[in-house]
Amino acid sequence: MNKAFVREPDQTADYCPRCGSKGEAVEAETLRAFLSQEQTAAITDPANFCPSPKCDVVYFDCFGRAVLTDELPRGVYPKDPTAPICACFGLTREDIEQDIAEGSPTRTRAVLEKAKTPAARCRQMAANGQSCVAYVQKYYLQCMNARK
Ligand SMILES: [Zn+2]
Ligand SMILES: [Zn+2]
Repeated sequence: MNKAFVREPDQTADYCPRCGSKGEAVEAETLRAFLSQEQTAAITDPANFCPSPKCDVVYFDCFGRAVLTDELPRGVYPKDPTAPICACFGLTREDIEQDIAEGSPTRTRAVLEKAKTPAARCRQMAANGQSCVAYVQKYYLQCMNARK
């Protein structure tokens, strides 16, 4: 019997069919924001986001069906490092680098503040449907550590 069909359909932790990274579960609301109706219909709930920056798979389901980066209308972070980290407010890596170069995290701090307000729409604006604060903080710290 094909192994793909003996897996539990309600299994929540799934692994990317291409790179093997543990997927992050995404809600239908997020999928609808990024995919066409046709693409949404072709992928089964629960869908997962592959968090690996180097992998071309953006979304996949438990049957190994995948939507690739070049099938999306625009680049998404972290697949595309030049895409805004926070699509809600348009903060990019360059903004963070500039903050650090200037020695004052003005842009970064403004986004972290706004992220706590209802203006943050990460559910529809971030490819993984999660708050982009984690990515913003991670990249900020990465840059700070690189300076040491
Ligand atoms: Zn992957
Ligand atoms: Zn956001």
